[in-house]
Amino acid sequence: MTAPTPPAARAPHVPLRRCVVCRRSAAKAELGRIARTPSGGLALGAADGRGAYVCLGECAAALAADPRPLARALRSTIPAALTEQISRAYGPEQEETT
Ligand SMILES: [Zn+2]
Repeated sequence: MTAPTPPAARAPHVPLRRCVVCRRSAAKAELGRIARTPSGGLALGAADGRGAYVCLGECAAALAADPRPLARALRSTIPAALTEQISRAYGPEQEETT
């Protein structure tokens, strides 16, 4: 039996989720959730259904350019309106208003 994950930090039990873009495992709090609801819709946040996670910031923004990792994870096509919503909700703060 091998342990593929190095014991990086001995934290109290934190549920880890994996970002669909960079495949990094992170605590749920560091990730944004996108769910495909049982009715077939797509929703952000704590909705019912199959969930996928992305890192807040760059990974969320990257989905706007290439939503395929999310599409694969959710087995659904990702409309552009949703990636916009994701990038607004989870993407990097837009500080510069030029
Ligand atoms: Zn990521």
